[in-house]
Amino acid sequence: MAEQQIENVVIVGSGPAAWSAAIYTARAELKPLVFEGAITEDNRQRGTLPLGQLALTTEVENFAGFPAGDLSGYFDTAFDERKAKELNSTHHKKGVSGPELMELMRQQAKNFGTRIVTDDIVSCDLSQRPFTLKTLSGKEVQAQAVIVATGARANYLGLPSEDKFKNMGVSACAVCDGALPRFRNKPLVVVGGGDSAMEEATFLTKFASTVYIVHRRDEFRASRIMAERALKNEKIEVKWNSVIDEVLGDDKNGVTGVRIRNSNDDSQTEELEAAGYFAAIGHTPNVDFLDGQVELKQNGYIQWTTPFRTNTSVEGVFAAGDVADDYYKQAITAAGSGCQAALDAERWLAEQE
Ligand code: NAP
Repeated sequence: MAEQQIENVVIVGSGPAAWSAAIYTARAELKPLVFEGAITEDNRQRGTLPLGQLALTTEVENFAGFPAGDLSGYFDTAFDERKAKELNSTHHKKGVSGPELMELMRQQAKNFGTRIVTDDIVSCDLSQRPFTLKTLSGKEVQAQAVIVATGARANYLGLPSEDKFKNMGVSACAVCDGALPRFRNKPLVVVGGGDSAMEEATFLTKFASTVYIVHRRDEFRASRIMAERALKNEKIEVKWNSVIDEVLGDDKNGVTGVRIRNSNDDSQTEELEAAGYFAAIGHTPNVDFLDGQVELKQNGYIQWTTPFRTNTSVEGVFAAGDVADDYYKQAITAAGSGCQAALDAERWLAEQE
């Protein structure tokens, strides 16, 4: 029987961190193998299909290099007259969408020779090198180094009506979606009482007429400073002791409101008109397949063990993007840390030779 090939580096994940890590490791001739995730109903339900959280968003306006809208102004200033004229007549004049950005990154990684497997890694043995990883379809792969870039998934309440209107007014990322035309000058709802809810609600006041924060208790979990900032904002109205009963809407308009219920008195309900509903009840990093073999922070995210590096508690295992970053959580920071992980892995592998 042929001996199993030992990969230099296996990358688990398929968001901006994973593809950046793939682009860099491929260009370093490490022949990376990416497990981008499986296309399963389970993954769809959990929001963990290949291409990650960006694939669940629409326009991306804050990824440097992909300006949105009418680009004439950018072209006129960034290029000489001839080139600007040409671009103005040929360019499709729209920004990049989340799914497009991910497809572009994936293709960029492929162009440098990255091999991609559309499967989940469901378990691993990191106790000895080479590491062993097992896939959902029952295959095994061995690797000298692993880059974990499996991201995090937004927590939703789990209401069927929430699911129905995802991308039609239901979102879990105000920074990604808040500026969309459908939310402008309309009332919006944010559910949650932590720092994310405060941050999202405060951010959304830039666009919304009113932002309702619906929180299940009578005090916020958020840090004082962030809670105070939100409470002081005239556009924010808090619905205390309230839970979301249902997201209201229709096929044509998407979200049109929510029905909330008093958490102390089940019989009390109220309907709020709203064009958008933002879940801000936390994220869950996708670390199940690691089964406790890599040190996590108290909040479940992977612990980076060396300042300014992507090393984890297991030598040869690196982490990039939202699976380890509970602070910035942006596409562009994930892409940056994917690059870092690739360079860290490359240098570490060179030291092993
Ligand atoms: P979090 O602190 O865990 O807060 C989650 C909030 O959602 C809580 O208020 C919780 O209510 C509520 N919640 C959870 N499950 C719910 C459910 N099923 N139904 C109704 N409400 C539910 O999460 P987070 O706000 O995402 O923050 C995560 C971490 O990131 C924190 O450490 C936070 O400080 C940090 N963070 C920092 C910043 C910043 O400094 N700029 C911004 C964002 C996040 P209860 O309070 O009743 O449990």
